[in-house]
Amino acid sequence: MALVGRSFLVVMMVLSWVSPVAAEPMSAGPWAALTGPAEDRPSSIGSAAAGCLTGAQALPLDSAGLQVLRPQRNRFWSHPRTIDYVTKLGRDAQAAGLAPLLVGDLSQPRGGPMAYGHGSHQNGLDVDIWFRLPGKPLGAAELSSPAAVSMVKGRKVNTKTWGARQLRLLELAASDSRVDRIFVNPAIKAAACKAGRGDWLAKLRPWWGHDEHFHVRLSCAADDTNCQPQALVPPGDGCGAELQSWLTKSTILPDQGDKPNTRRPNLPAMCSAILEQPGPREAANR
Ligand SMILES: [Zn+2]
Repeated sequence: MALVGRSFLVVMMVLSWVSPVAAEPMSAGPWAALTGPAEDRPSSIGSAAAGCLTGAQALPLDSAGLQVLRPQRNRFWSHPRTIDYVTKLGRDAQAAGLAPLLVGDLSQPRGGPMAYGHGSHQNGLDVDIWFRLPGKPLGAAELSSPAAVSMVKGRKVNTKTWGARQLRLLELAASDSRVDRIFVNPAIKAAACKAGRGDWLAKLRPWWGHDEHFHVRLSCAADDTNCQPQALVPPGDGCGAELQSWLTKSTILPDQGDKPNTRRPNLPAMCSAILEQPGPREAANR
C-alpha cells in the first residue's frame, strides 16, 4: 500500500506540474468564433499546443516597419509580451533597411485551438514572420491574399530567393532575449550555420516546412504561473549531428498549410471559463 500511495503521490505531483488544473479536450470551432479578448490580466494558460489566453492585445495593423497578413482571419491577437516583441522587431527591421516585415498569424483573441492551419499558436507566445521581404508596402488586396515565396529548393536554400537580408532578419529576430526558439526549415538552419556563429544560432530549431516563413516562440513571462514552458533547447549551436539527422531524412514532409484541424487538445480547465466569458462571436473568416 505504501508503494501504491507513493506512486499516486508522484503521479499527482507530475500532473500538478504539467497543469495546475484538470484538462479537458476541446474542439477549435468555438475558439475561432470569438472576435474579442477575455478581459483579465494578460496570461498565457497552458502550452503553445494546448492552451488559451487572457488579456490579449491586437497587433496594430499600421505598426512601423511591418504589415499584418490576412487580417480577415482575426489572428493578430497575442500576449502583450509578443505584441511588444513584434513591434520592436518591426522598428529594428526598419532601421536595418528590411521593412516592411510581413507578419503572419499570431493567435486568436482568446488563443485556443485553430479550426485550420497551426496545431500551436494557442497561448499567445507564437508568431509567424515571412522570409519574403518585398521592399515596399503591399496593397490591401495582396495583404488579404498574399503570395508566399519559398527559400528552399530540395534540401538546400534557393539562392534565388534566400540571401543576406533573410539571414540578417533571422539574426535580429533570434537575438531578443524573450525568444525561446525559432522553427525553420533544416536547409535554412544549415545556411545560417554555414554563414557564421553566434549564440542566436542555438535558438534556430529545424522543423518540417517553414521554408517561406519562420515561427518565433517566446518564453513564458517570468510572473505568469499559468504558462507551461517547453523543454529547454539542447546545449550547443545545433549545427552538428542534430542538423545532419534532419538533412539526411529519407523523406521531406511538406508544410501542412491550412488543412482543417481535427485534433482536440486537452486544454487546462481554466480555459473553459475563458471561452464562456461573454463577448462578440461570429463565423470565422479565412
Ligand atoms: Zn507558426
